[in-house]
Amino acid sequence: MQHRIVVLGAGYTGAITAGRLAKRLRREDVAITLVNAEPDFVERVRMHQLATGQRLRPRPLGEMFAGTGVEVRIAKVTGVDADRRTVSVTGADGDGELAYDTLVYALGSGWNPQGVPGTAEHAYEIAGRPGALRLRERLARLRAGQTVVVVGGGLTGLEAAAEIAEARPDLDVAIAAGDGLGDWLSPKGREHLRKVFARLGVTVHEHVTVASVEADRVVTADGTAIPADVTVWATGFAVHPIAKATTLEVADTGQIVVDGTLRSVSHPDVYAVGDAAMAMGPGNKPLRMSCASGTPSAWQAADAIAARLTGGKLPNVPIRYFNQCVSLGRRDGLIQVVTADDRAVRAALTGRFAAFYKELVCKGAAWGVANPTLGLPARRRPVTHKQAASSAVREPA
Ligand SMILES: Cc1cc2nc3c(=O)[nH]c(=O)nc-3n(C[C@H](O)[C@H](O)[C@H](O)COP(=O)(O)OP(=O)(O)OC[C@H]3O[C@@H](n4cnc5c(N)ncnc54)[C@H](O)[C@@H]3O)c2cc1C
Repeated sequence: MQHRIVVLGAGYTGAITAGRLAKRLRREDVAITLVNAEPDFVERVRMHQLATGQRLRPRPLGEMFAGTGVEVRIAKVTGVDADRRTVSVTGADGDGELAYDTLVYALGSGWNPQGVPGTAEHAYEIAGRPGALRLRERLARLRAGQTVVVVGGGLTGLEAAAEIAEARPDLDVAIAAGDGLGDWLSPKGREHLRKVFARLGVTVHEHVTVASVEADRVVTADGTAIPADVTVWATGFAVHPIAKATTLEVADTGQIVVDGTLRSVSHPDVYAVGDAAMAMGPGNKPLRMSCASGTPSAWQAADAIAARLTGGKLPNVPIRYFNQCVSLGRRDGLIQVVTADDRAVRAALTGRFAAFYKELVCKGAAWGVANPTLGLPARRRPVTHKQAASSAVREPA
């Protein structure tokens, strides 16, 4: 009997996990199914580019996984029953149920309106493709001089504000940041950010809390109105509610709580990777929702599953940060070097070289996903019935 591995979500981390498992396990021993709502892989890290009218290369999942032994199933996951070991899906052929022996939960995240009044009605977002396409259509209809406010001074907000300002110099673009602009960056990084925003004509509102969004403005907690024909909400991500509705142990954020091997602390036959996982990184800090930590977490999960199924040695993939790569339009960027636990150090790269470096990182990440089994040494080991049975049991601490 084949061991059934179901991977939910074919974003960066789900696709990498599925591809790596295919390279680690013998085809006759396992049936790997990768479930995704959309038929192609979406480069989420480029959603601000999509929103500003740039064309992204289509990457159909069927082509990416052809010949790998991974079966791609295009369907929307509607629920997980972690006790019955089943997943409910709905797709072109109606509703269905998938049974698994090992589950990898990698459904990623979406935008986080944080319950701020008016966001649902008036704000735009770029956490995923539908949102980015909606914003793209709206931006295309804006006339010269109209106003755009990006709410959120984190990495996504910075990238969005710069990209929009560069692509549409005729618009009046502003950013509203809860803290000081780029507070967490090195002095060199902060200075560069201010220089670029000044050059691009981005108005910076710092230390402001946006309390509500209206059709033509955002209103801050102290009652100040900032004109906004378009509000882009970029204050962080929130996970999909599916995990929270299961018996899996989840954090307050709704992320599945996992151990160092990315295995659920409550259900040993379930793994969670990427944005959907609450995993501790260096400094005992939760991993940031990012490809930067999601990718090694996917490697770790795949290798841990393979090791447990085949009786191999449990891997210890180092999950740490090296830098924060920020695009500031297509011609400028900032590579902030950080400590293993994501704190900025003095060193930072800026300007065109940083933009080029960031582009290489994005291309490399997409290449790794689009060629899921290429370049990875095959170490296929047989799955034994004994190992498969004991893989769903937690080892003594
Ligand atoms: C504009 C932007 C810029 C970013 N820039 C960076 C950056 O520079 N560096 C960095 O490290 N991170 C960056 N990030 C964050 C990064 O994109 C995410 O952390 C990363 O995509 C998470 O990977 P994931 O596999 O967990 O989820 P995702 O990549 O979101 O993949 C989830 C997959 O699950 C699918 N899915 C979701 N719900 C369902 C369902 N119900 N049924 C079936 N399928 C479903 C989705 O279609 C998707 O394919 C950026 C994000 C954005 C939005």
